[in-house]
Amino acid sequence: MKQKVGIGIDLGGTYIKYALGNQDGEILKEGKRPTDAQADSGRILEQISESIMDMVQFAHENKLSPSVVGIGTPGCVDVSKGMLKGSTPNFKSWKKVDIGLEIEKRVRIPAFIDNDANLMALAEARFGAARGHQNVICLTIGTGIGGGVIINGNLYRGSHYAGAELGHMSIKVNGLKCRCGGQGCLERYTSAPAMIAHYKKFQRGAGQNPGPEGITVKDIFNMFKSGDPYAAKTVEVSTYYLGRGIANLMNIFNPTRIVIGGGVADAGKVYLDKVSETAFAFAMENAKENVKIVKAKLGNKAGYIGAIALAFDQMNKSSEKVE
Ligand SMILES: [Zn+2]
Repeated sequence: MKQKVGIGIDLGGTYIKYALGNQDGEILKEGKRPTDAQADSGRILEQISESIMDMVQFAHENKLSPSVVGIGTPGCVDVSKGMLKGSTPNFKSWKKVDIGLEIEKRVRIPAFIDNDANLMALAEARFGAARGHQNVICLTIGTGIGGGVIINGNLYRGSHYAGAELGHMSIKVNGLKCRCGGQGCLERYTSAPAMIAHYKKFQRGAGQNPGPEGITVKDIFNMFKSGDPYAAKTVEVSTYYLGRGIANLMNIFNPTRIVIGGGVADAGKVYLDKVSETAFAFAMENAKENVKIVKAKLGNKAGYIGAIALAFDQMNKSSEKVE
């Protein structure tokens, strides 16, 4: 029998990554193009459609016919309507877009949409670092913190798709103000920009000029390894708060895997070890059983692998309804 294939799109502020794959999480072809994030939403829809048509062409050349499209986007998505509800921080006018409808109109293939962090969680739980686990928490740490919650093998999205915003869990009641309107959010202490801000703050606190210019999280971890005191403090603070946040998640959800992805997780073993140390020191005794905090496995492929998985899930669900 000819294999069933679908197309996955991972819309990011810098790149649109896309792939053709099957229901088993196998990727047959992939590609990427720079996102025109400052353009109007019509242009971004065009870019998504062009990416899809690239994959359709490859599929046809190989005598395959994609039956479904899945798209991950930042922001809050009404999955039942395929619609982006609010706005997204890295895009100029990507807000309140009827993505599913607009894409189906352009490419004539059924399209299903979800939040990008949800799709990464789905991919890691089904095909990646938490394969075989039913209750999984996924945190993607980069410019912000994305969260995904898998309960009994399914994504948990909340009543109006606004749930699982794990980066906006307050871990310090009188802490730093956050862009979400909250205060002391995890994101303000452990995201990449937060780590860089902390590093500079510690330098200033010691009477040093903050620098060097353009410092990255990778630099901070390298300096940490070579004994830089400000880097040591920065790593201490960010892993401590992340560990405290994860202890909360362990107590609330009692998962067996907590998957950490994104650029900050690439810092290596020392980072995860420190996070685990705090998480296990503060979680309740019964919530620690068989839990592991692990690094994401699918890297930057997780977005489109999850998108393809979502698309097949949703299509199978709607065909069940018809029968
Ligand atoms: Zn927040």
